[in-house]
Amino acid sequence: MNDKISLLGAGLIGSLMGVYLKKRGLDVAIYEKRRDWRKDKLAAEGRSINMALSHRGLKALEKAGLKEKVMPYTLPMYGRRMHDEHGNTYFQPYGKDNQAIYSVSRNTFNEILLEEADRCGANIFFNHKVETVDVENKRVRFLLADGSTKDISSEVIIGSDGAHSSLRNAFECQTRFNYKQEYISHGYKELRIPPTADGGFAMDPEALHIWPRGRFMLIALPNLDKSFTCTLFLPFEGYKVCFEKIHDGKDAEYIFQTYFNDAYHLMPDLAEEYDRNPTAALINTECYPWTVNNCLLIGDAAHAIVPFYGQGMNCGFEDCNILDELIGKFGTFSWDLVFEKFQKIRKPDTDAISTLAMENFVEMSDSMADPKFLIRKKIEAKLHELFPDEWVPLYSMVTFTDMSYSEAYAQGKLQEQIMDEVMRDPMISHKWDSLDFENILNRVDAVRSV
Ligand SMILES: Cc1cc2nc3c(=O)[nH]c(=O)nc-3n(C[C@H](O)[C@H](O)[C@H](O)COP(=O)(O)OP(=O)(O)OC[C@H]3O[C@@H](n4cnc5c(N)ncnc54)[C@H](O)[C@@H]3O)c2cc1C
Repeated sequence: MNDKISLLGAGLIGSLMGVYLKKRGLDVAIYEKRRDWRKDKLAAEGRSINMALSHRGLKALEKAGLKEKVMPYTLPMYGRRMHDEHGNTYFQPYGKDNQAIYSVSRNTFNEILLEEADRCGANIFFNHKVETVDVENKRVRFLLADGSTKDISSEVIIGSDGAHSSLRNAFECQTRFNYKQEYISHGYKELRIPPTADGGFAMDPEALHIWPRGRFMLIALPNLDKSFTCTLFLPFEGYKVCFEKIHDGKDAEYIFQTYFNDAYHLMPDLAEEYDRNPTAALINTECYPWTVNNCLLIGDAAHAIVPFYGQGMNCGFEDCNILDELIGKFGTFSWDLVFEKFQKIRKPDTDAISTLAMENFVEMSDSMADPKFLIRKKIEAKLHELFPDEWVPLYSMVTFTDMSYSEAYAQGKLQEQIMDEVMRDPMISHKWDSLDFENILNRVDAVRSV
């Protein structure tokens, strides 16, 4: 008889994991606290309306047979379009050969994945909010919509219930469970650039737009309805431009006129949306172990990261892919073995992407506006063009390959050291195009052997 597997949370990661498990012929139940948002759009979560899907996520979808279903709902973004304070823009390709990341609506995407889990035969229970988990006896208590409770028991429990996971809370009672969470100093608010009067995109739809302003920034991703979803990242307090000092939509208009003037002219509903939309916090969590007594954490429940590398969901999908691979390899006779292998393989990688995501805020909001940084990016792009296999920029390793995050991190640090050296030349802005690129490449081995 198959073990009964209970997945807690039908977000992006829980839904994809449900598909994988059903495809292995396992008995899966998914419990979700929200109402069924496929029938009731208002039940959809108000958090981050669109997101960037990249190689790791696409690979996991392809393996589950879902890539073809998802692609028609995506828009390719081939690079960043930077907006300076005077309204000038310039384009920086993400990679070579038209490499792109894909903008997709969170709700549509979640709907497709959930629909597939349903179609494959997963039992999905909405309005089931996990109240408590008894890890020792593998029992879960749910709070239902009418206020009553329901208890279930399960051979295997997988917590895909996001950054504030109830299963992780239950792990906290275990001895030797480490948990760390950090709300960063910045929060975010989502706003919208509508389509133009004649129904077109108001800006280049093939780019992720960034208005870098040092300690704060605005970004925008295109939507299929020809609008853009903008995300304003600001410190909560303590600076001239921060959420604490923007009291209402009128103040927001002033900030936009001053710092994001070209965007301001495309946002007729800015003041109203600013007042209406919530300001949300950003959390980073790390914990270990991820598994206790046939219970396992995956996705944000195991490792919530800040969104500055666009990898949280992609990383969670990679969790599903790797867990599925291990189930394929070791079978389901010993879940403890599979879960133990999973956490050992995965933890160094999620630690690496967590660090990279934190670091990338500085790159996106500050360095991108620095002309010297752009020269550095051009040198790296040239190295990649000349030596495509030997020198791959860190962003490309993370976004366009499935090299482990920890390997990408280590290689990235090595390349950073060499680039720091190259950039020390005071004449670099004038001669960057005629450098001895082979010599730069050769320094990789020299630095590695030190
Ligand atoms: C502003 C922002 C932008 C982002 N952009 C990107 C991006 O461009 N690319 C990218 O890869 N990642 C991005 N991310 C990260 C991404 O959103 C997350 O990594 C991803 O949503 C994690 O999926 P998950 O299923 O693990 O958790 P969640 O999406 O949080 O889903 C958890 C599910 O569990 C349910 N749940 C929670 N508690 C309970 C409970 N007690 N009982 C029952 N059900 C419960 C929830 O309702 C939800 O359905 C972004 C994040 C933010 C905040």
